[in-house]
Amino acid sequence: MSKQGNIRISSENMMPIIKKWLYSDKDIFLREIVANGIDAITKFKKLVEMGEAESDNSEYCIKISLDKDAKTLSVEDNGIGMTADEVEKYITQIAFSGAADFLSNYEKANGDGIIGHFGLGFYSAYMVSENIEIFTKSYQKDAEGVRWESDGESVYTLEEYKKEDRGTKIVMHISEDEKEFLDEGRIRSLIDKYCSFMPYNIYFNFTGKDDKPLNDTYPLYLKDPKECTEEEYKEFYRKTFHDYHDPLFWIHLNMDYPFRLKGILYFPKVKNKTELERGHVKLYCNQVYIADNIKEVIPEFLTLLNGVIDCPDIPLNVSRSFLQNDRQVQKISRHITKKVADKLTGLFNNDREKFIQCWSDVSVFVKLGCIKDEDFYNKVKDIIIYKDLDGVYRNFDEYLKFLHPEKEDQKEEASKEDSTETKTEKEPETIYYVSDEAGQAQYISLFRQAGLNALVCDTFIDTHFISYLEYKEPTKMRFLRIDADIDAALKSETTNSDDTKELTEAFKAELKNTTIAVKAEKFKTTEVSAVINVAEFSRRFGEMNAFYGLAGADVDRDMTLVLNLSNPIVQAFMGLDEEKRKFVANQIYYLAMLSYKKLSSDEMKDFAESSNCLLENYINK
Ligand code: ADP
Ligand code: MG
Repeated sequence: MSKQGNIRISSENMMPIIKKWLYSDKDIFLREIVANGIDAITKFKKLVEMGEAESDNSEYCIKISLDKDAKTLSVEDNGIGMTADEVEKYITQIAFSGAADFLSNYEKANGDGIIGHFGLGFYSAYMVSENIEIFTKSYQKDAEGVRWESDGESVYTLEEYKKEDRGTKIVMHISEDEKEFLDEGRIRSLIDKYCSFMPYNIYFNFTGKDDKPLNDTYPLYLKDPKECTEEEYKEFYRKTFHDYHDPLFWIHLNMDYPFRLKGILYFPKVKNKTELERGHVKLYCNQVYIADNIKEVIPEFLTLLNGVIDCPDIPLNVSRSFLQNDRQVQKISRHITKKVADKLTGLFNNDREKFIQCWSDVSVFVKLGCIKDEDFYNKVKDIIIYKDLDGVYRNFDEYLKFLHPEKEDQKEEASKEDSTETKTEKEPETIYYVSDEAGQAQYISLFRQAGLNALVCDTFIDTHFISYLEYKEPTKMRFLRIDADIDAALKSETTNSDDTKELTEAFKAELKNTTIAVKAEKFKTTEVSAVINVAEFSRRFGEMNAFYGLAGADVDRDMTLVLNLSNPIVQAFMGLDEEKRKFVANQIYYLAMLSYKKLSSDEMKDFAESSNCLLENYINK
């Protein structure tokens, strides 16, 4: 038997799909229904402006009400309303947006402010309702009121209904499973999240007396930045982000061309120095909240900030993948990044003191931004500053100049000579750094005695960041932690390792740690007997592995114990008997290790014993 027929796509087949897949987030139904009411009012206002309709001078507003006994949630507007035909067309035939129709009917009206384009918005209310009623009356003269009702699956009713006022009331009969949406607190928080900047007053459980709208119909970000005061910015921040710490500073975005973009981005104070706290950059479209931290519009590193961004031009679609490839969206995203870079550069150039004050809060954000976005790095590379051991902040060019004040003049001469000769690859400048001022105190003191300086790179992102800098500026600089090697300036003369072979081998033979390498150098200072060095590359490799939880975090096998040939104990070493050599070698090793990092528990026990032994001998001397 064979049979032929048409596959019919009707609302009946589509509803389960809509319910399940279209909106992953049930909460948005209220936004959709309220936004439709806002649209209806906007449309009506436009008709009044064009002389197509007459206003009755009542306040344009949306009233949301909850009736627990009847298990209904209602949204009422005094907008354009619908005739029976329109209900049939716009509501019953789903997936048909009345917004486009309105605009083509009234070409004179520009589309500004009409939200529409979420598509299928009305039907999202069926995610939480078992039944929905619409009571509506069109603005048109002599229009009859209409009542529509449907369970959203198969049948609907459309009938005349005596309605007094123009506008639409949507009554959602909340399903048994979705009772949470009959909770007042829950509804209030939804209004707060989705509707707080909507352009007409929104009342909840309106009584007619002393009612206050829940929303701010003219949020600060819409205003001209020239007219906003510092106090207003702070107040807006507190209210919107419920953060009672004042923000450090902010950026007011305000442009109309080539796309419309308004908003305020706030740099918050960092509360936790070891971990990044996610911020909220809330995206709005015509004052309707869309979502937080949409990565296609707001570059990921900017989501460490708090802010609101309103982009009426964003093509809102149910599918995110569409956003990813949209040129307009990419432009918006790049513009936001540029504004942030401009603000930071402006502060650096115009108010260095304030910039330095804010730097500890902003630096992680800037460094992360550089790593994630090369364009951003190119814009801000000159404002990245580090503190040196004297507590002075400089950017890299300033620091390199500080290290070699004489170089500037040389450079000019060199370039004159260079022009005839073949250019040799420029050696990068070595920049020493410390990652822990207290922990690396002994190395720091050696450095200071030798008249050397170093940068303090102590945020958790610095290891990544300096590697990034070396990769970006291979001929400009390379970084060495202060314990990575012995700089020539610390030595009184260079030592040939063959000359010290006897000493270093004898020393190594006595050590309980059998994996450590031993070498010797003639330091300027006599006080320190030895220090530990770990090659920069090995240490960083270990740190990266530790960061990502991989094996290979242990770098001890690449440690070198550097003996100080100027130190009297080291000088006396070869003259000692076997037993004393063992004691002295390990004690020197422990002391050096203590300045480098913690001892293992076995080593600590051994060190405590040997130290006690020393004290006894001292007392009995
Ligand atoms: P969209 O808003 O994207 O057009 P919806 O499914 O939300 O899609 O709404 C479909 C259409 O139903 C709207 O375009 C509008 O014509 C009509 N409509 C919905 N709610 C209202 C309302 N409160 N007042 C007047 N018309 C409405
Ligand atoms: Mg809609």
